Amino acid sequence: MKVFIAGLATETNSFSPMPTGHLAFQDTFVSRSATKEPANLFSAPMHVWRTLSEGRGWAVCEGLAAFAQPSGITMRATYESYRDEILSALAMAAPDIVLLSLHGAMIAEGYDDCEGDLITRARALVGPDIVIGVEIDPHSHLTPAMRDGADLIVAYKEYPHTDSADRARDLFDLAARTALGQIRPVMRDYNCRMVSMYHTTRAPMRAFVDQMLAEEKHGRALSLSLIHGFPWGDVAEVGTRVLAICDNSAEQAEELARSYGQMLWSLRAEIAPDWPDIDAALDKIEASHAGPLVLADFADNAGAGAPSDSTFVLQKILDRHMKDIALGLFWDPGAVRLCQDAGVGARLRLRVGGKVAPSSGQPVDMQVTVRAVLPDMSQRMGEGRMPMGTGVWIEQDGVHLVLCDTRTQAFHPEGFTDLGLDLGKLRAVVVKSSQHFYAGFGPIATEVVYINGPGTISPDYGQIPYSKRNNQFWPRMADPWAGSSPA
Ligand SMILES: [Zn+2]
Repeated sequence: MKVFIAGLATETNSFSPMPTGHLAFQDTFVSRSATKEPANLFSAPMHVWRTLSEGRGWAVCEGLAAFAQPSGITMRATYESYRDEILSALAMAAPDIVLLSLHGAMIAEGYDDCEGDLITRARALVGPDIVIGVEIDPHSHLTPAMRDGADLIVAYKEYPHTDSADRARDLFDLAARTALGQIRPVMRDYNCRMVSMYHTTRAPMRAFVDQMLAEEKHGRALSLSLIHGFPWGDVAEVGTRVLAICDNSAEQAEELARSYGQMLWSLRAEIAPDWPDIDAALDKIEASHAGPLVLADFADNAGAGAPSDSTFVLQKILDRHMKDIALGLFWDPGAVRLCQDAGVGARLRLRVGGKVAPSSGQPVDMQVTVRAVLPDMSQRMGEGRMPMGTGVWIEQDGVHLVLCDTRTQAFHPEGFTDLGLDLGKLRAVVVKSSQHFYAGFGPIATEVVYINGPGTISPDYGQIPYSKRNNQFWPRMADPWAGSSPA
């Protein structure tokens, strides 16, 4: 057997002002030998596939791996050049199994469904008998082109995505059994008519994920995935779906997808975010006697295409003269450069944040001391590491900011502590992240508070101004099923 592996991923926020070109990919990860380099979220599956293939004595042919931090629409030439590089390598390889690490929410100029386009072209190249298996992020748009072109699609189950390597093992096992003729996978999906985010660290989603895992273990499903959807992708298919893969039974796959989809629908009231605004969240810090509280600045999450330079929370903290609070990671390459040049210990006037878009708020003028500067920083994420570039710790009267020059969300406390900042001594840490922070920050938090605040990805899903999706989804409609028979 010969296995071809490659990866192409970014999550496109149609409402983000930042274009995604070659530089955005190069700033994150572009490699022709990804499995010879340290793993990150999207390359971890390729490491797993190489190891498992070689363990069976199978040949591995490795193509491009290119991943970009989520932001706005990908430039057409960028997408087409990476796609065509992967397809030419695939044509040369002539494999028995194709395994791709994709995202599922990549939009480029002229392509609303990059993954569907790539998979369709891959299928045309290899023909109907070669196994195509795809691993995706659950914040994706599951489209007919993806489903029709691939034999197997497996999404991460956890959010934070700590299981990209585990799901890669699942996908490899299914692809190998398919290629050996031991199973005949059939995929069916169910449209839940919901647009939301689903945190799997707590009820009710924790139990939902555990039940999917048990279903796979007990054999009714070869694989079950909850496609959360990525709410800020303006495409016709945006929304939540359940994808079931069963062995040689479309009926069983359809039934499983429907039953899990209907279970999710019944949980919607528990899933709807009921979070404090910025002032109410800061009141919690004032009222707390033990630190640190961890506050999530949900709306400025670089991992969903936000700039990661918004100042709404920072300005309120300064207005209220609060102290012993850290905030990060602010993506502000200009400010990083000025602090680098000034050096550790320097005091300077610095204009921080609020630079990329109106959704970043206003820049904040501070009088800061540079506490630390560290190049080539990175943060843990699952079994991989995510780069953050040069990190800078600055302080003004007990308000500590971490700036960086590679745009990324706050994944792990080491983004702060590697600079020497002791989070245990603080009253609160405000992290620019929607949920990936939880794996690293949860264990050090006396309480985790999600903020319902302004920014590029405000969690008001009913108000997202879609131009390509119909209005038949909760929470835009209280009951999008009214007047129609469930499909
Ligand atoms: Zn995701």
